Amino acid sequence: MSFKDLKLNKPLLKAVADAGYDNPTLVQELTIPMVLDRKDVITSAQTGTGKTAAFALPILQLLYDKQDAPKKGKTVKALVISPTRELALQIGKNFKTYGAYTNLRSTVIFGGVGIEPQIEILTKGVDIVVATPGRLLDLHKQDAINLDHVEILVLDEADLMLDMGFIDDVKKIERLCPETKQNLLFSATMPYKVEELAKDILKAPERIEVTPTSSAAVNVEQLLFYVPKRNKIELCLHLLRNTIKGNILIFRRTKFGVDKLEQTLTKNGYLVERLHGDRTQAERQTALGKFKNGMVKILIATDVAARGIDIDQLDAVVNFDLPSVPETYVHRIGRTGRAGFFGMAYSFCSADEKSYIKKIEHLINVQIPVEQEHPYPLDPKEKPIVHKRQGSKYKKGRKSEASKKKKKRWY
Ligand code: AMP
Repeated sequence: MSFKDLKLNKPLLKAVADAGYDNPTLVQELTIPMVLDRKDVITSAQTGTGKTAAFALPILQLLYDKQDAPKKGKTVKALVISPTRELALQIGKNFKTYGAYTNLRSTVIFGGVGIEPQIEILTKGVDIVVATPGRLLDLHKQDAINLDHVEILVLDEADLMLDMGFIDDVKKIERLCPETKQNLLFSATMPYKVEELAKDILKAPERIEVTPTSSAAVNVEQLLFYVPKRNKIELCLHLLRNTIKGNILIFRRTKFGVDKLEQTLTKNGYLVERLHGDRTQAERQTALGKFKNGMVKILIATDVAARGIDIDQLDAVVNFDLPSVPETYVHRIGRTGRAGFFGMAYSFCSADEKSYIKKIEHLINVQIPVEQEHPYPLDPKEKPIVHKRQGSKYKKGRKSEASKKKKKRWY
């Protein structure tokens, strides 16, 4: 199938050709006609499948075709909600690329940067807004954005949005838009809470499933290293010196872990960048930019900071810490081995992470090959470290003052 077969108009076909796309991806083939048909759609697809164009292209077409409508001017007609600033920026960039030959205006709004320039752009008028939830609500509170004329609402990476605690914000935003709007929901996984959200918001949606999250990418070679927790850094250095080559994305579970590994690798002479939620927007963009343009070869990140970010030609993913949610493993290793390239995924498993491996292998239905030959093997008899929970002497239901304070995110 070609983009022409999808009945895209000339300005979009030209932009798609400029972007170097020959044919639509599967998610585009399935989603674009539904969106053009004004249907609500729930699509299960991960980053890397071409899902951004799957909603951006038909949105641009629908708005372009309606350009002579009386509401032309200062009203926001399409709103895309994204959980992270990086993803919002990426989506915004795609709208600019695909919309290059339309006169539709789009902008990206997110927190962590000055609000005034965003108000200025909104005052001049835009057709498409890509936003993170918090800043969008701030702008709405300040009467800087009017959502009364939104015709299409997109919730991107809905599962991550809920994981990050945005459920109430998302519902609030949805209620600020007209009830008659078209709703599109994209999510890498479809846990129960995403289904619930979809039931709340979408009207008789069409369902599209592109990549079952349980299938690990075929052109990624997976290797498992059993290693004591205390030796993970040594193992990482050993592999960097001897085995792993190219552009490497290392996942750690916590921001603290990311910082600690960055210090160690820097001390050992490696140029690294890091991505996590405590870094400023400018720092995150610089880090990502350096990694994308090859100035640094190693990026260390938490899942949330790295999710949804499109990085070309990633040679290897290292799961320095294993994720407790098995689907996250599939997302992580799916960052490499894209578009026909070959990739490697190295996973470190300490005694207390063995249960995670069981869940991952059950999900992907594959036994991950174990690398026996390395200098820091785990003694099979080594018991997991049990962390005593503080405050366990308190009766259930009673919370200490500290724990009553807002829980700080660790990703
Ligand atoms: P996404 O899943 O939207 O993050 O897209 C992943 C990557 O695929 C991006 O770099 C897009 O530019 C690229 N892409 C999207 N659609 C196509 C297509 N039809 N052909 C080739 N590349 C594409």
